[in-house]
Amino acid sequence: MLYQRSSALFADAKKVIPGGVNSPVRAFKAVGGDPIFVEKAKGAYLYDVDGNKLIDYINSWGPMILGHAHPAVLQAVIDKAKKGTSFGMPTELETEIASLAVSMVPNIDKIRFVNSGTEACMSAVRLARGYTGRDKIIKFAGCYHGHSDSFLIQAGSGAVTFGTPNSPGVTEGTAKDTLLARYNDLEQVTAIVEKNKEEIACIILEPVAGNMGCIPPEKGFLEGLRTLCDTHNILLIFDEVMTGFRLAPGGVQELLQVSADIVTFGKVIGGGLPVGAFAAKNEIMSHLAPEGPVYQAGTLSGNPLAMAAGLAMLTELNENRSVFESIAKKTEYLHKGMASVLETSGLPYTINRIGSMISIHFSETPVVDFETAANAAAGDHFKKFFHGMLKEGIYIAPSAFETWFLCDALTYEDLDATIAACEKTVAAM
Ligand SMILES: *Cc1c(COP(=O)(O)O)cnc(C)c1O
Repeated sequence: MLYQRSSALFADAKKVIPGGVNSPVRAFKAVGGDPIFVEKAKGAYLYDVDGNKLIDYINSWGPMILGHAHPAVLQAVIDKAKKGTSFGMPTELETEIASLAVSMVPNIDKIRFVNSGTEACMSAVRLARGYTGRDKIIKFAGCYHGHSDSFLIQAGSGAVTFGTPNSPGVTEGTAKDTLLARYNDLEQVTAIVEKNKEEIACIILEPVAGNMGCIPPEKGFLEGLRTLCDTHNILLIFDEVMTGFRLAPGGVQELLQVSADIVTFGKVIGGGLPVGAFAAKNEIMSHLAPEGPVYQAGTLSGNPLAMAAGLAMLTELNENRSVFESIAKKTEYLHKGMASVLETSGLPYTINRIGSMISIHFSETPVVDFETAANAAAGDHFKKFFHGMLKEGIYIAPSAFETWFLCDALTYEDLDATIAACEKTVAAM
């Protein structure tokens, strides 16, 4: 496939946009080469500016769980747009989507809509701090909660108790309130909590990690965190920006039967428009302005186009709940197909999968945390795999630290084509 026009557009973009992109991972820096510019997308397929058709396993990084340009979502946005695109005043639509979300997700009474997952997580932590009157938070190495200052803390190799800023611009003052732990290591989190008694407002995590490739929680990890939080009056925040309305109608809380105190959403909840949300029981949400003193606001929050897309998406998912099983089955089929190809290839590999999230790690050892994910990503295997798949018309995320997101528009023929592409690709590696 040729990508001449994409490369030309990228060269133009770089003159006026830093790195040519509005979000770094789009730039292909981890895999090399120029990013692909999209013309349009429909169902499971992307059509780029050079006329190539690609099978899409990113789906806008998760939102397009039913495929691109879903008719119900499109129609809802078009109908709404004709009536005006933003008012900065309440609309009935906001109550409709809030009611539906509250009915689908366990353990929440109220939900506040914002414009991104970043905003949702940032606000959830502020709420947790305001509610508990404590400053410190615990996050896990390799978990991504958006780009606000408190979250841009990395572990390096092995977990350390006190974080150091990993992005210039994040102050030491901010970093010192973010304590780092190793994913799937309950013992270590417990030790951190013991060392910081009465100081920790919340533990925030991706209950199924998707930002270091797909890493499901080990048995007992989430349950252990729940107990730990109950013992020490710490709020447990599930960042379900990726997993919410994807792994089950009620997210990981429903799928794995562990309850959170605050839940954050993004991606699927906006049906492809910029939406985030955070939600909790009344007792916690009542601390939020204007009901309570914890301030949070947004000029375009709950705007009618975003709410119309989100409501259409959640309605589809709520009324067709077999979708979740259907995509999980497709993902399992893909898993089996790629596993048998990789098995005969002699390449080291681990495939992690849960529901419609899956990732290949080029490592023989289990990938359970950031360190093992980083080890698996260290060699050239992923780069070669990515470009090989792309040559065959399969678009996966241009980084070994990303999960693949399947959409229900994928057919079994698409999956067979993907497995065949995988076979060709690994044969050349
Ligand atoms: C994508 C993501 C975010 C950030 O959401 P944005 O809408 O990109 O700000 C936060 N948490 C998780 C788990 C995510 O996957």
